[in-house]
Amino acid sequence: MDEGKYPVNWKEKSAQVKKEAGGRCERCGHKPEGTSRDNLVTHHLIPNKALDERWNLEALCNKCNLKAEHKNKELRQRLTRWFNICREDWLMKQLKDYADILREEGRKEKCTY
Ligand SMILES: [Zn+2]
Repeated sequence: MDEGKYPVNWKEKSAQVKKEAGGRCERCGHKPEGTSRDNLVTHHLIPNKALDERWNLEALCNKCNLKAEHKNKELRQRLTRWFNICREDWLMKQLKDYADILREEGRKEKCTY
């Protein structure tokens, strides 16, 4: 995840996502201890920091996050670039649909704890 800058309220937003997830990974259900190796992170399905609404965010453990970051990496980065060029409604709808697919697929391919 390296596209763009984090919005000013990112810390609060990220904390809110983790809170809603009950401190658990939304894919595998693991509850991390909160150490650097075993931590809950807020993942962007479409890797663009400006897309910080709930539909694009997922609370994930380190292992699931690593998988998620590598999954369909090129396509996800391409969508991010499209978003940077064109922020029209039709594209937003496509991005949301694709985020739903990624979320669903991710749950099937969760890590094993
Ligand atoms: Zn997980």
